[in-house]
Amino acid sequence: MPFFSDCFGNAASSSHFFGRQAQGAVEQARKEIASVIGAKPHEIVFTSGATESINLGLKGVALNLLSKGNHIVTSAIEHPAVLDTCNTLRKQGFDISILPVDNLGLVDPVEVERAIGRKTILVSIMHANNEIGVLQDIQAIGRVCRERDVIFHTDATQSVGKVPLNVEYCAVDLASFSAHKMYGPKGIGALYVRDRNPRIHVKPLIDGGGQEQGVRSGTLNVPAIVGFGKACYIAASLEETEALRVLELREALRIGLMNELDDLLVNGHLEKRVPGNLNVSFAGVQGHSIIAGIQDVIAVSSGSACHSKSGKASHVLKAIGLPDELADSSIRFGVGRFNLNSDIAYTIDRFCEVINRLRRGSPITSANATVP
Ligand SMILES: *Cc1c(COP(=O)(O)O)cnc(C)c1O
Repeated sequence: MPFFSDCFGNAASSSHFFGRQAQGAVEQARKEIASVIGAKPHEIVFTSGATESINLGLKGVALNLLSKGNHIVTSAIEHPAVLDTCNTLRKQGFDISILPVDNLGLVDPVEVERAIGRKTILVSIMHANNEIGVLQDIQAIGRVCRERDVIFHTDATQSVGKVPLNVEYCAVDLASFSAHKMYGPKGIGALYVRDRNPRIHVKPLIDGGGQEQGVRSGTLNVPAIVGFGKACYIAASLEETEALRVLELREALRIGLMNELDDLLVNGHLEKRVPGNLNVSFAGVQGHSIIAGIQDVIAVSSGSACHSKSGKASHVLKAIGLPDELADSSIRFGVGRFNLNSDIAYTIDRFCEVINRLRRGSPITSANATVP
């Protein structure tokens, strides 16, 4: 809070006390953020969020290595920030390979190796998927990329602060993530850029005052950065206990729904998954009808949050081989830090009530939607 008002210095103004105070707070946050992924503080570049980090990482490397090659490898289940960036690069002459996933949502590292050719400069495979929570074997993928001298970017927006990620151990060269997916403020993110073995060069997309080692110009958002640092600090201190607690809640939700309802399908690998994610198809009922029926304090989504308005079947669920009807009947649950056992019990009750009603074909009345 004080960084919105009392400590109003510009972190780039080192000539006075106020600037130095802001700079100190930014550097403290940078340390906390770097430490969560096993990076060094100067390898963290602040951005406006994961979308910008991904754009900067992918375009910045691609444009830098144009003389070396033009081939980029990614996967079918990436977030639109990656897929649309690759699409733009394709229009600029890059050759993009989009790897499939198996029916549990996993990319085969052998397929990554096979896809790498003489002209490959970059591989971008996400760590945790945002719709089905599936965790890729980025250690194996990182090793393949390192052996073939190809830069490896991972979209770690859904994993940082929830499951361990170490950029050394996994041979990650670039990693994108965002504060607001780990209880921090919105509009602030980071791009990890490896400094040694090898040093990765990223061509800036924004020119100007030369902040962030010239990679991302513009005055730093000090309060958001301080919040991001604090979010990382808290996530790191809760890591062991919280992942287990959230996993137990998620399993209670899954088992409760499965015991009470028939014709239910869990999408994505159950173990290789972030603890809080559950994605379920409720055969015979549409996701948007379920959401309309729930109408209360339970916040769930059909498809990804970013796309839930477009009405298109999820590209992730299609990629794991789900037919359109089942993809349309899926709901994504996210269990988090502020959920309690009582929330799970309540959610199971409400879902059973609404789904049974929809399956019987009776109308939902708002009188059935009660708040706990
Ligand atoms: C949310 C999300 C993004 C985009 O993050 P912003 O901070 O909203 O730009 C990218 N990738 C994944 C996997 C996400 O979940």
